[in-house]
Amino acid sequence: MYYHLYITDECNLNCRYCRDKIFSIPEPDTPDITIKDIPPEITYPLSQLKRFISKDPEAKITFIGGEPTLRPEWIGAIMQDVPAAKWMIQTNGIRLKDLPSDITNRFGTILISIDGNQELTDYHRGKDTYRKAMESIQSIIARGYRGELIARMTVTRKTDIYAAVTHLACNRIYPFRSIHWQIDAGFWSDYNPHAYGAWSKNQYIPGIQRLADQWISVIKQERKVPQWYPFTGIIHDLLTGEDSLLRCGSGHANYTIQTDGTIIPCPIMLGIKDYYLGHINTSHYSDIKAVPIPKNHCTNCDIFSICGGRCLYSAVIRPWPDEGFTEICTTVRSYIKILQGLIPQIQQMMRAGEISADAFDYERYNGCEIIP
Ligand code: SF4
Ligand code: SF4
Repeated sequence: MYYHLYITDECNLNCRYCRDKIFSIPEPDTPDITIKDIPPEITYPLSQLKRFISKDPEAKITFIGGEPTLRPEWIGAIMQDVPAAKWMIQTNGIRLKDLPSDITNRFGTILISIDGNQELTDYHRGKDTYRKAMESIQSIIARGYRGELIARMTVTRKTDIYAAVTHLACNRIYPFRSIHWQIDAGFWSDYNPHAYGAWSKNQYIPGIQRLADQWISVIKQERKVPQWYPFTGIIHDLLTGEDSLLRCGSGHANYTIQTDGTIIPCPIMLGIKDYYLGHINTSHYSDIKAVPIPKNHCTNCDIFSICGGRCLYSAVIRPWPDEGFTEICTTVRSYIKILQGLIPQIQQMMRAGEISADAFDYERYNGCEIIP
């Protein structure tokens, strides 16, 4: 099982699409949902976490926050005591270089938040965040890090998706092989489906088409598949014909442990009491119940087995009127259609022996939600 381990609520940034929005715009009205405050720091004894995780031989743990690198003492103590099969971290990268190499070198995957080039990243995340994240990457590599580094982007209406992804893949400081992106649709209480819809139709989806063409041309040239997760995740399953549950894994393969030890389906569903699934002190991992996408959300959708339902959190909270969901689903449909259009070329490459089906393998549930 995959687990997100929430270790602190504190963060050293105030990104426009995250804390800045949460603190400056009122929350969407969700009258049917009770949200409980959770402690800002871990309150359970580590022995409880150790006991819970040691029963799961496949436990893969991702540190999240807040900003997890602000609690290096917790990271060190947990990694020393808790027998996980794999360690990962989601970080803004600012303090990553301050972690000792005997910690960083044990991570199999590091997801680092960076949104494209310096101008765009600093606009979203604050002055100098791009430079500091890149410096951290250079530092951990110089000190022996050899695991996967995923550029984890947030896409806003400021983002030119083609320019942003190709910058991350081709820049001179650190050309990322692994890239993931997720859209901020601007549907907090800054709800404006028409502005979002126009951006998606006129900018984002044409940019995705261009990016998909670029991805294919790199595959043809290099005979290797750049791990652009929103592409590989879908293409792999289109090639194999596999259906997918919710692609981030939340509620069936990927659970979150809150700072008080409560187990919940998704890292964003903190404090939602109706979705508390157990506690590390009393639960066995194999008994944690699955939480499917609510039935009425994607009922009758003909691409449900490919999309998987996109997001459990928004399906449960329903923070927007139906019009907002329709806009998001229109983007998902156009997106999947573009990827379906690549299949004949990929199959042709496979028949010609230029690439194998295995080249599209990817790690599921490692913090990449796949459907942006
Ligand atoms: S496209 Fe929309 S309706 Fe269809 S499965 Fe995805 S989230 Fe559900
Ligand atoms: S996509 Fe939705 S359900 Fe999945 S991790 Fe993100 S917020 Fe949670």
